[in-house]
Amino acid sequence: MYEINGINGPIVTINSKTTLQINEMVYVGSSKLVGEVIGVESDKTTIQVYEDTAGIYPHEAVISTGLPLSIELGPGLIGGIFDGVGKPLNILSAQAGAFIPKGLSVPTLDCEKEWETVISCKTGDIVCGGEVIAECRETPAIKHSILVPPNIDGKIVFAAESGRYKVNDCIARLLSNDGQTHEITLSQRWPIRTPRPVGARLPLSIPLITGQRNIDTMFPIAKGGTAAIPGGFGTGKTVIQHQLAKWADADIIIYVGCGERGNEMTQALSEFSELKDPKTGRPLIERTILIANTSNMPVAAREASIYTGITIAEYYRDMGLHVAMMADSTSRWAEALREISGRLEEMPADEGYPAYLPSRLSEFYERACYCKTLCGKEGSVSVIGAVSPQGSDFSEPVTQNTKRFTCCFWGLDKALAYARHFPSINWNNSYSEYLSALTPWYEQNVSPDFMALRARITSLLAEENRLLEIVKLIGSEVLPEDQKLVLAVAEVIRVGFLQQDALDPDDSFVPVKKHLKMMQAILYLYDKASSLIAEKIPVSSLTSTGIFERLKRMKFEIKNDELEAFDRLNEEIDSVIAGIE
Ligand code: ADP
Ligand code: MG
Repeated sequence: MYEINGINGPIVTINSKTTLQINEMVYVGSSKLVGEVIGVESDKTTIQVYEDTAGIYPHEAVISTGLPLSIELGPGLIGGIFDGVGKPLNILSAQAGAFIPKGLSVPTLDCEKEWETVISCKTGDIVCGGEVIAECRETPAIKHSILVPPNIDGKIVFAAESGRYKVNDCIARLLSNDGQTHEITLSQRWPIRTPRPVGARLPLSIPLITGQRNIDTMFPIAKGGTAAIPGGFGTGKTVIQHQLAKWADADIIIYVGCGERGNEMTQALSEFSELKDPKTGRPLIERTILIANTSNMPVAAREASIYTGITIAEYYRDMGLHVAMMADSTSRWAEALREISGRLEEMPADEGYPAYLPSRLSEFYERACYCKTLCGKEGSVSVIGAVSPQGSDFSEPVTQNTKRFTCCFWGLDKALAYARHFPSINWNNSYSEYLSALTPWYEQNVSPDFMALRARITSLLAEENRLLEIVKLIGSEVLPEDQKLVLAVAEVIRVGFLQQDALDPDDSFVPVKKHLKMMQAILYLYDKASSLIAEKIPVSSLTSTGIFERLKRMKFEIKNDELEAFDRLNEEIDSVIAGIE
């Protein structure tokens, strides 16, 4: 036990020699606030505290735990909402009302709840870290595997019968190779700053389907991949993150609300409780875990929240599940880092951010992967981080460094958002580095010419971009007819294809097969119209038929489960063209 000497916001110092270690978890003050050692010198120890330090005084005690800052993992996480260090918020507010008293120590998992557990190991079994030894049903859709903690292996010397167990009940005892006995319960702890080990990292080759045309068709993310969504205030970052949380084809969604408005988290919670998962028909909340560190909560816990989130993600990955994690916004996380660094009087680098900002970001995004787990199954963690640069200035350090460590860049554009073109993903500066790795999947599962169609769509957009520069100078009247056609078709692509209404029940999630049909219809019209123009028929005779407008509305008029209606649309195009000829 040590004595506090100094308190500066979330930073507490002990000015004497201690045996505390870096990253060790400690309890600070008489109300036992959770803290972590972040600096050790011969005569000074620095602690970062994850709760509000108002009301603690010098000379109060610091208690060492000997363990790194870690989180409890086990059944009961799903559907929960936690703070940055894993304290359950719904339980806390039920116990304590809306104002959460500090240091109120509530375990992450409900320790009274009993889980119907099927135990599959028996005495004498040789098991290794990460192996499944029992199972319980956590939600109707998710079977929770109980794993041997990753870092121990040995022989089972006791195995309980299947039955109902609480998270802290011993279900097996394991004698490890170094002669120690370990009690295995339904839960285990893991240090949040250490990645959980995997069997092998596998190449990324399957897309994380999201039902968003801008993503799945234009800039796809792979399962196990990383993406950044930079965008200024009001450009639609939160809406995209919510869309992904609702529709991404992952088994588990971890949503970290980091320094954003509290009501957005409340909205997410209530929406996810009402919406049904298209795959299982169950409420989406039954596959979702929320981590909230809204703008009014302690800054240090915000720093920890993304590690807590990704540790939970890795835990479910280790069961052979596909997990998608969203962090909104990593800029608020970086600001927390900057604030703490400032209080430590560290030498600031770019724009006041600490010099270790890039390494922290890279360590975080590195934890995304598609892997063979220790138990031999396949699982993945995909990470999507929003970045909110001040004034939409993408040259600032958080955006630039995030860009270095993520493979998809979905740049949101202020001008598009202002014109109510949503999602405001700018097709000129966004990219996905997974395109070529995912091409075989699209060709086998959607259509052999999928990527070729996509390439034609993007080249029409690029051509439009070039023509608009000319139009700016000399107006569109003087353009030759074939170029006028490019402009008309590109507009159909922008309005009919790229714009997607998150609030429309049909357009909110669109299967990739429909993306294909939509691209085919647009390019069919383009090819037919091109041949008309070759016969010296002006574009205006085509525009006046309303066929371009018709294609702009196809996303609403053709329902997701009526794709055969596209055949009739193509016939309509034929008859319009025939009418002009
Ligand atoms: P940010 O998080 O970047 O500050 P939000 O995600 O809160 O911005 O979006 C701001 C507003 O933009 C939303 O309230 C909504 O009205 C509109 N919006 C954003 N994306 C869409 C979308 N895909 N469909 C419809 N409206 C959208
Ligand atoms: Mg937002």
